[in-house]
Amino acid sequence: MSSHILEKFLNENLEDLKRKGLYNVIDPLESPNGPVITINGKELINLSSNNYLGLATDERLKKAAAEALQKFGVGAGAVRTINGTLKIHLELEEKLAEFKHTEAAIAYQSGFNCNMAAISAVMDQNDAILSDELNHASIIDGCRLSKAKIIRFNHSDMEDLRAKAKEAKESGQYNKLMVITDGVFSMDGDIAHLPEIVKIAEEFDLITYVDDAHGSGVLGDGAGTVKHFGLSDKIDFQIGTLSKAIGVVGGYVAGKKNLIDWLKVRSRPFLFSTSLTPADVAASKRAIEILMESTELNQKLWENGDYLKKGLKQLGFNIGNSETPITPCIIGEEKMAQQFSQRLIEEGVYAKAIVFPTVPKGTGRVRNMPTAAHTKAMLDKAISIYEKVGKEMNII
Ligand code: PMP
Repeated sequence: MSSHILEKFLNENLEDLKRKGLYNVIDPLESPNGPVITINGKELINLSSNNYLGLATDERLKKAAAEALQKFGVGAGAVRTINGTLKIHLELEEKLAEFKHTEAAIAYQSGFNCNMAAISAVMDQNDAILSDELNHASIIDGCRLSKAKIIRFNHSDMEDLRAKAKEAKESGQYNKLMVITDGVFSMDGDIAHLPEIVKIAEEFDLITYVDDAHGSGVLGDGAGTVKHFGLSDKIDFQIGTLSKAIGVVGGYVAGKKNLIDWLKVRSRPFLFSTSLTPADVAASKRAIEILMESTELNQKLWENGDYLKKGLKQLGFNIGNSETPITPCIIGEEKMAQQFSQRLIEEGVYAKAIVFPTVPKGTGRVRNMPTAAHTKAMLDKAISIYEKVGKEMNII
């Protein structure tokens, strides 16, 4: 029998979420997460995945994964520091360092895990972290875990960052100061102002930390936001995920060799959680090789992003200020955004609503993630469904 107090807590809170329309209903896929997906037997154009380059279903990655699975089995068998490091883990890390133009890299089981690992391995209660107010949840949790003082600065507001960095530095209260930002912000598709951040970091001796989950594979010909700005030698921590453009699962930090050496002895998910499976490692390594060999998929992604943006804008939708293929369609009122998404899904486009608290109140939106795998015909169909539903709901 479960505890009464737990039952009461769960019943009350689940009811509350459902009443407020905040209870997430999950639609399971009956197909791979490609440009067209099947849900409840119905085919839908998929504009909701982070599979930016279409690599999640790429035959070359599947082959690499299948071979590694046959050779090494399904699991790595232990944490990295006991005997869960296969040679291919090290090969992946070497590839990641090459990809990111750094001395070394360390792989984790997810991007989320990576932020939990890396921040708290370096920062502690005597330190302070300047964090963009729109940073991802895993950065927020990683900061909290470190016990450092968290100082939030207004989104991409460089004057605010500078003032807060100056105040923190001059207070003399902290041993180390760090600035953390997403490279690309996933709800709006805008890019962090890294050149200015680096300048401020140099002025106040800040450790620099960029989570490029949405920039890797997308900006800088695929190498990411840091490379896009030519700052590879100026950013201490380059974080990435293997689960979005790379198409698999996992996360990593790329940086100086001594930083990576430290993370290998001090970051807890590396020490206490079983390492990535052989298939994940081999597929990720293959994906990075593909990205380094050719920019073809990257170019297709941008072409498709520009095409969708142009189509939606011409219809009169508010697509915000995205600088990347991420294409929000800002509706405003939360319920309306949810209804709009529901109607799009009914008509054949899987594009999910994103509402408060993930984005500020009154900026409810449907977010579109075009990928390199979409065809023009799929995007045309999506745009025509947007037109139909937009007119029906008096949005355009
Ligand atoms: N950082 C950012 C900025 C992200 O958007 C995400 C994914 N939503 C993560 C980290 C977590 O990555 P993963 O899915 O690999 O855990």
